[in-house]
Amino acid sequence: MKNFFKFFSVVLLTFYFSIQVSAWGAKGHRIIGEIAQRHLNRDVSKKISQILQGESLAMCSTWMDHIKSDKSFKYMYTWHYCTIPDDKLSYDDCEVPKSGDAIQTIERLIQELSTKKISDGDERMAIRMLTHLIGDIHQPLHVGNGEDRGGNDMKIKWFGSKSNLHRIWDSELIKYQDLSYTEYVNWIEKTVSPSRLNYEKDPVRTWAMESKMIRMSGIYPPEEKTSLGYNYNFKHINPLNQRLKEAGMRLAHVLNEIYKK
Ligand SMILES: [Zn+2]
Repeated sequence: MKNFFKFFSVVLLTFYFSIQVSAWGAKGHRIIGEIAQRHLNRDVSKKISQILQGESLAMCSTWMDHIKSDKSFKYMYTWHYCTIPDDKLSYDDCEVPKSGDAIQTIERLIQELSTKKISDGDERMAIRMLTHLIGDIHQPLHVGNGEDRGGNDMKIKWFGSKSNLHRIWDSELIKYQDLSYTEYVNWIEKTVSPSRLNYEKDPVRTWAMESKMIRMSGIYPPEEKTSLGYNYNFKHINPLNQRLKEAGMRLAHVLNEIYKK
């Protein structure tokens, strides 16, 4: 019996931690929300602020992580990511969990907000979710290969401390820059420029396919590498910042389109 409880608590803990590390850290989400906020058209910004009752996009961006502690929101657990295996060339060929995934949820939220037939409470919740999920889908490891829980199973040290590849992308790299979220936005607004024109108008599925491409372009360290640090930061901080910027600009574009007069 004792062993059973031990086993049960290990399972629970594993589940708990797998949930805890399944999203950009708070700072990543705030950065994306803040970039979007700075690129909203003036009228749209006023409208969004009304809907969010004065809360900023940066602050509302983490609501979807905070509610994970409430079991009544359990049905949303699978919405933070999607799965596109390495050999699938299109999302249309992929299996989607019954409870839905990030792509389906983002597309549905955009559609629901566009119809304008939505209650005030639901509209507020939809903007909070959209802000969070557009962020998540730009994190390359939130578009998983279906084999290693988005890199969570790849245990690896970060500057000597226990971590895993997913967590390094969610939060360790961002934390390592040692900036507040507004300082971070000031930095990347000046230094990161778009890879091509009109990228913010790309459809949702393109965002996911880009994440998949980045996932497959060298962010997995070689197997013999058990610890990452300076070198990994040097190599990957620019592509990561590019994703933060793209997510923020695309969120602004989506909201500007929905709420334009
Ligand atoms: Zn998330």
